[in-house]
Amino acid sequence: MTKITKILIANRGEIACRIIRTARKMGIATVAVYSEADAHALHVEMADEAVLIGPAQASESYLKVDAILDAAKRTGSDAIHPGYGFLSENPDFVDKVENAGLIFIGPSAKAIRAMGLKDAAKALMEKAGVPVVPGYHGEAQELVVLAGKANEIGFPVLIKARAGGGGKGMRKVDNQADFPAALSSARREAKAAFGDDRVLVEKYVATPRHIEIQVFGDSHGNVVHLFERDCSAQRRHQKVIEEAPAPDMPEDMREAMGAAAVQAAKAIGYSGAGTVEFIVDASDGLSADKFWFMEMNTRLQVEHPVTELITGLDLVEWQIRVAGGETLPLSQDQLSINGHAVEARIYAEDAEKGFLPAVGRLLHLQFPEGDIRVDAGVRAGDEITPFYDPMIAKVIAHGTTRAEALGKLAGALGRTEIAGTVTNAAFLTRLCRDADFASGRLDTALIDRNIASLTERVTAPEVITALAVLAAYGMVGSGTEFPASVSSIGPFEIWGAPKRSVTLEIDGQNRSFTVEREAASDWRMAGEGLAAEGTRLEAVRRKGDDWSFAAKGISKRCRLVQNGTEVAVFHEGLTYRFGKPSGARADDLAAGGDQVISMMPGIVKQVLVSEGQEVKSGDPMVIMEAMKMEMTLAAPRDGVVAEVLVSTGAQVADGVSLVRLTGEADAA
Ligand code: ADP
Ligand code: ADP
Ligand code: MG
Repeated sequence: MTKITKILIANRGEIACRIIRTARKMGIATVAVYSEADAHALHVEMADEAVLIGPAQASESYLKVDAILDAAKRTGSDAIHPGYGFLSENPDFVDKVENAGLIFIGPSAKAIRAMGLKDAAKALMEKAGVPVVPGYHGEAQELVVLAGKANEIGFPVLIKARAGGGGKGMRKVDNQADFPAALSSARREAKAAFGDDRVLVEKYVATPRHIEIQVFGDSHGNVVHLFERDCSAQRRHQKVIEEAPAPDMPEDMREAMGAAAVQAAKAIGYSGAGTVEFIVDASDGLSADKFWFMEMNTRLQVEHPVTELITGLDLVEWQIRVAGGETLPLSQDQLSINGHAVEARIYAEDAEKGFLPAVGRLLHLQFPEGDIRVDAGVRAGDEITPFYDPMIAKVIAHGTTRAEALGKLAGALGRTEIAGTVTNAAFLTRLCRDADFASGRLDTALIDRNIASLTERVTAPEVITALAVLAAYGMVGSGTEFPASVSSIGPFEIWGAPKRSVTLEIDGQNRSFTVEREAASDWRMAGEGLAAEGTRLEAVRRKGDDWSFAAKGISKRCRLVQNGTEVAVFHEGLTYRFGKPSGARADDLAAGGDQVISMMPGIVKQVLVSEGQEVKSGDPMVIMEAMKMEMTLAAPRDGVVAEVLVSTGAQVADGVSLVRLTGEADAA
C-alpha cells in the first residue's frame, strides 16, 4: 500500500474543485495546475499550491504532459488525478506518469487502451460474452463494404467514429440513399476531431435509452457496480440531465446490466472508477434482454454525483483509496440504492437561439441554498472564455422519489441567479417539468421532439421592463425610505414630476420609453410594447439588489443586478436580460448623470466621499487601480452623494456603478 500525501490535479473547473474538496477531507495536500487564462480561477485559489503550465489554449497547457509532470516533480506530488476530459483517457500520459514514479489515479494504461477505440472494445466485449449493439466493427472501410453492411444490419443505422467521443463523428442514416454522404461527413468530422477517420456501423436502436453502469475495481481483482444512471435526456448525442436510478428499471434488468458491466471491467483487469455505457431498446418498456454495450469511459464521469447521492458514497475518495492500493471499501452486497437523484448541467449557451455557445464575465452568480448540491468551478466575476468547456455548474437534487427530486431540481434551477452571460437554465427547468420527461416516458429523442416548447422565447413582462429602465438609469436609490403613503406628502408637483426619455436594449433592439415619476415611489412608463395607457409601478423600493414593487394592486419582489452594459432581473424563476445602450451609459457618465461608473475592471483603492456629502462637478470621488494604473473618478455634476456602492479593496468589473448622486427629483 502506498500512502498518497499530495495530489496534483491535471484539470480545471468544477472537477478540479471537486477533487480538491475530497483530498482536503482526507488530509491530502493538493496542487493545481493552470493556464494563463486561469490565473485567478477558483481551482487555483482552492488548492494548497499552484503551478502555471502555459498559455490559455488547452494544447499549450492542460494537455502539455511534460509541463504537468514537471509541476508534479517540483511540488513533490506523489499522485496525479486527471479529472475528466483532457488527459484522462490518454494511455501514453498514464505511462509517462508511472515512469516518473508517480501514481495515476485511474485505470492502467492497458485498460484504457483496450477501451480506447470503439471497434476494438466491441470485439473484446463480444468475446467476453457482453451483449454488444449489432453492427459491423471490422477492418474494411470502403464505401461499398460499409454500405452493404448497413443494408444487412437494416436502416436506420448509426455511423460512429471508432476514436469518437463527445458525440463527434456520429451520423444517423435513415436509408441507403443517404449513406454515402453521411459516411463522408462523419469521416471528415472524425478526422478533424481525432485524427482518425475509421468508422463502425451500428444498428440504430429504436426508442433508445442511454443507461450506463458505474463500476469500480481495485488492484486486487475485485469489481463492483454502483448501479445505473439514466442519461437519455440528450441533445446531439450529448447528455443534458442525468439521473439515478433509471425510471421504471426492472430489478432483473438492473442485475443483468450490473453483471454485464462487472464482466466487462473484469475482462480488462479494471481498477478505479469507470462507466460502461449501454443502449437500451425502450420501445416496449424495459426488459433484461434489450440492452447492448456501446462503450466504456475509463474515468470519472461528469454525472458521478447522482450515483454519490443515491449510494451515500464519495467516488473520488474511492478512487484515491484504490489508487493507493486499498481494497474496495464495500462489497456488492453492502451497496444499495437510497431514493432518487437528478443532475442538470448549466451551460453558458443560448438555448432559444439554437444552443449557441456563449461567453462572458459572470456579473452575478448565486446558487440556491438548502438541500441541494451544486458543483461549480467558477464564482462571480469569473469569465467564461471560448478556450474551455462552457459548463458553469452542475446542480444536483436528491429526493425519496423521482418526482420529489425533479421538483427540487426545478425549484433550485429557478432560484439560480446568473448574470453576465446567457445560460440554458430556463431550458433545464422546463425539461424537468416537461410532461413526458416528468412521467418517465423518456428516450434520447425526447428533447428534439419537444424542442419548440422547451426553447420557447419568453418576453419580459411589462413591469419587469419598466423596472429595468428605472434601474438602468439609476432612478431608484437603495434603502431610500420614502413615506409609504403618497397622500401624506402632498401632490407630486413637489418633485417636479420629471419626465425623461430613455432607451433600453431588448433582444438586440433599442427601444424608447418615457418615464414619469407620479409620486415618491410611483412611476409611469410609456413606450413601444407597453400598454397604451402606460405601465404603472407603485411603491418601488429597493434595498441593494432586492427590489419590491406593486402592479395592479399586487406586491411583487425580484432581484436585479447590473453593470455598465447589462441589467439582469431575476423574477419568479426566470432571468430577463436587458442591454444598456451606449446612450444610457453615456448619459450616466456625462455631466448631469447620476452615477460614477468604473471604466475598466480593477480594485477600489479609496472612496473619498460619504453618503449625504455635497459635491461639485469634477470633485474626486473614487480612486481605482486598474491594470497597475491609478485613476481618479470624478463627480459628473454638482449634487449630493445618495449612495456609496463600494468599499476600499473591492474588486469591481468594468461598468459597475460605484457612487450614486441624488437626481434633481430626489432632492426633496
Ligand atoms: P460524460 O459521459 O462524463 O458526460 P462527456 O462525453 O460529456 O462525458 O465528456 C466529459 C468531459 O470531457 C466534457 O467536459 C467534454 O467537454 C470533455 N471531452 C469529451 N471528449 C473529449 C475529447 N476528445 N477531448 C477533450 N475533452 C473531451
Ligand atoms: P460518445 O463516445 O460520443 O459518447 P457513444 O457511443 O457513447 O459515443 O454514443 C453517444 C450517444 O449516441 C449515446 O448516448 C446514444 O444516445 C446515442 N447512440 C449511440 N449508439 C446508438 C445506437 N446504436 N442506437 C441509438 N442511439 C445510439
Ligand atoms: Mg458515450
